[in-house]
Amino acid sequence: MKGFAMLSKGKAGWIEKEAPVCGPMDAIIRPTAVAPCSSDTSIINDLDLPGVILGHESLGVVEEVGELVTRFKPGDRVVVPCSTPDWEEPALQERGINNAHDSGWIKSFKFMISHDGVFAEHYKVNNANANLVHMPEDMSVEDALMTVDMMSTGFYAADNANVQFGDTVVVFGIGPVGLMAIAGATLRGAGRIFAIGTRPNCVALAKEYGATDIISYKDGDTVQQILDANSGQVDRAVIAIHDTACMNQALQLVRCNGNVSTIACIAPTEHYDIPMPLWGLGESDVTVKNGFCPGGAYRIGQMLKLIQNDRVHPGKLLNYKYDGFDKIEDAFWAMNDKPRDLVKPIVYIEH
Ligand SMILES: [Zn+2]
Repeated sequence: MKGFAMLSKGKAGWIEKEAPVCGPMDAIIRPTAVAPCSSDTSIINDLDLPGVILGHESLGVVEEVGELVTRFKPGDRVVVPCSTPDWEEPALQERGINNAHDSGWIKSFKFMISHDGVFAEHYKVNNANANLVHMPEDMSVEDALMTVDMMSTGFYAADNANVQFGDTVVVFGIGPVGLMAIAGATLRGAGRIFAIGTRPNCVALAKEYGATDIISYKDGDTVQQILDANSGQVDRAVIAIHDTACMNQALQLVRCNGNVSTIACIAPTEHYDIPMPLWGLGESDVTVKNGFCPGGAYRIGQMLKLIQNDRVHPGKLLNYKYDGFDKIEDAFWAMNDKPRDLVKPIVYIEH
């Protein structure tokens, strides 16, 4: 079968590969729509996984199921979480989060790591009963596709910030995840939301999803602008941008007993360097929480329910649209090159 894969460091292209084999708990899926993500482009730029098929955000049709899969059958249309935990893992059950195994963190992220990704004619989903979701009848392709990573990740960032009714929240970064963190903070009852970013399309969406104040570095020091506008510190901060400098800015902005939630994936060579006054000399009761996109059927079902009841429409993120399986290549490089007007690309494979 054909797949769009990492070839070597910085290089990606089409390869021929054996189709995946369906295990007893697996499903084999044919993708109908996919969305490239910065995690796909960072795989080819930061890791060394030649021959791995890329992609982790998709909707599809079930082609085959293993003998233990009871909830799905060939022909079913499904929403496929980007994170597909091994739900039978005792360590994962004990910790109550979906990514931690005895063998380490982020083990629920299977696509591109423990098996091939979704930019293929067919791909495998582990633990299909517990991970796949039937595509709701009344759901747009765009909204459904944005639940599998962007919405689940952004909303988790808002959850981890512990946003309460009336809170003042700062969101660093207004890419797709930051925009979904704004939407999540809004739904959790934030009073005022400062969004830091400059791209015009993203600024417009940030306002639509609930940002009350847009802060640009072009207007001076962003921390000072927020402290001035808010007449003091804020309650919560979400970091949704890959920039380690944001941690100290967040710690400057967040009040005692506030929360800093960081959802960005940081490279192994980087580190935080926190001056102790920003740490309240260890006495400020600030909670800093990192995290990884929750996956699985229940989580994505909850996201879909918010859309079905008209609370939020994450499909608005998709502003670069491509038609046809072969266009995965163009969409991938658009995500890699990030033209200034890009928010998020989608490739329609089957209508
Ligand atoms: Zn993604």
